[in-house]
Amino acid sequence: AGPDPDLDRIRDRLAGVRRKLLVLSGKGGVGKSTVSVCLARAFAAAAADDGQVETPVHQQPQLQVGLLDVDICGPSVPTMLGLLGETVHQSADGWSPVYADESLAVMSVAFLLASPDEAVVWRGPRKNGLIKQFLRDVDWGQLDYLLIDTPPGTSDEHLSIVQLLKSAGVDGAIIVTTPQEVSLLDARKEVNFCRRLGVPVLGVVENMSGYVCPNCTRKSDIFPATTGGAAAMCKEFGLPLLARVPIEPGLARALDQGQCPIDTMPDGSETMTAMRLLVDQ
Ligand code: ADP
Repeated sequence: AGPDPDLDRIRDRLAGVRRKLLVLSGKGGVGKSTVSVCLARAFAAAAADDGQVETPVHQQPQLQVGLLDVDICGPSVPTMLGLLGETVHQSADGWSPVYADESLAVMSVAFLLASPDEAVVWRGPRKNGLIKQFLRDVDWGQLDYLLIDTPPGTSDEHLSIVQLLKSAGVDGAIIVTTPQEVSLLDARKEVNFCRRLGVPVLGVVENMSGYVCPNCTRKSDIFPATTGGAAAMCKEFGLPLLARVPIEPGLARALDQGQCPIDTMPDGSETMTAMRLLVDQ
């Protein structure tokens, strides 16, 4: 087979995207979508540096962010952003994303389904076909960041994403894990997957990293046997531990209700502090 013309189209389509980042996890349910959504919200709330030192911070334009949910069989991004029931519109320039706010554009398979309860029962080739369409046809315009929330594991779909983005270039991957051994084990596979495919790993986010009791405000390790496991894994692979996000009931509640955690969570909440730190890195 000759060169795939779609790769050139994807490169042209994403030419206005400054940085493309993958969010990966070995296991499902470890908080990959939660981290993707918090990160997208935190990026979208951050002021873009317009290069003019004299511009006051509140007058600087905000970063433009895209969040592409390619967790085809379990898309949770639309719920977490309060976008359930939204649909995609076709324009002359391709598929228009749905906007969570003026600086956050979102695309998900959920926007293509008739009902949120509908199951996507597709074989690999059809899933890969949709991923290609998402990368080739969504009209993102100019973005500072495109975050791609992937399915758990290192599946066929991951290979497709990386191969399809080859000509456009992936800037890096963020790996999400909990402190549990079963999650850490799969996170290591994720690091090796990235290394084999030449995707730079930017670092690891440890989610569900302890629980602060709201009554006594003492922090407990929920998985004490593996406390420090993510840090040890990072050390072994020479990777930064980018953030440690505790279990926060307020975070789960905000995202279940599609609210922006930046607006609803108390100032200084560990989660948003971790996300802001991540944005600054
Ligand atoms: P994944 O994308 O890895 O499958 P999700 O992000 O969907 O995982 O998270 C699974 C569930 O756990 C969600 O209901 C989410 O609200 C909850 N959750 C994830 N991280 C946290 C956290 N740090 N604090 C509280 N709840 C969390």
